[in-house]
Amino acid sequence: MTDSQRFIEGLKQNDINILKTVPKADLHNHYPLGGNKEFIHKQTGKLINPVNGKLLSMGDMHKWVNENIGDTLQGKEGRILALDACFQQAAEDNIAVLDIGEDVWAKDAIFGGNLHEMIKLFYKSRETYAPRTKLSFQIGLSRHCSIKSLLKWSEEFFEEDCFNSIDLYADEFAQPIENFKPLYRKAKEKKLILKAHVGEWGTADDVMRAVEELELDEVQHGIAAAQSHRVMNFLADHKIRLNICPTSNVKLSRVDSLKNHPIRKLYDNGVIVTINSDDALVFGNSVSQEFLDLYSCGLFTAEELDEIRLNGLK
Ligand SMILES: [Zn+2]
Repeated sequence: MTDSQRFIEGLKQNDINILKTVPKADLHNHYPLGGNKEFIHKQTGKLINPVNGKLLSMGDMHKWVNENIGDTLQGKEGRILALDACFQQAAEDNIAVLDIGEDVWAKDAIFGGNLHEMIKLFYKSRETYAPRTKLSFQIGLSRHCSIKSLLKWSEEFFEEDCFNSIDLYADEFAQPIENFKPLYRKAKEKKLILKAHVGEWGTADDVMRAVEELELDEVQHGIAAAQSHRVMNFLADHKIRLNICPTSNVKLSRVDSLKNHPIRKLYDNGVIVTINSDDALVFGNSVSQEFLDLYSCGLFTAEELDEIRLNGLK
């Protein structure tokens, strides 16, 4: 049986264990919150139960994280625990390609200024917990940090050959997208995959502007694009991939239900989409579970979901 046959069979039989055996990608995962909760429970005795109900804003989410996770994953030790939990989750869910990385500010603030040690910790964790997972190593930018600081902090990252991608996240409205051009020009020179979070809270025009200004290859979320045929056509024509996290969108009240998720409209308009986890500890989902939920609610056929699974592995 091929992977595709097994995947389609797993969906039709509503069997998460079959889905877990099939290779998938997770291209939108914020590792400090992307880990396996049983792993963290075993290591620390702390049980983190995912969000029950809906959050209304990023502020709400930060409050939830403070109340429910607290300092468990903070500091260098906490960060390493989160990383190990993330690779453990990838191994259990057969994630063949995992795009994660570290905030550029964390090199000094968490890893004592030692970038090589930080890089080694990522590879060591992968070797220990998920040796079959390919790490697509990401350079992370928080949108509220000043451009001057981001340029200074990222300098050393750009000199390393191990990084594959760059991403911009946190408050989507913190500052205009144009501000980040110098960082994305550098990343383009380094031939990194250019990604940014946009169109989760913002508009279809925000998605288009970000793709044009930063010359993005991929958009994290980008679901607001479904509000504009012009923007969807633009994304489809330029083969811009949207790395979407359906459960996150529902639990953060971006979408009222999975059944009404705009991923269907984006797919029908020829936009390349993938399905990802975002923050598994907060939203309580694995990538396999995301696929199963989208099938169970009738949004996609099993064959369509297999095509989407393969989009992530290209
Ligand atoms: Zn995200």
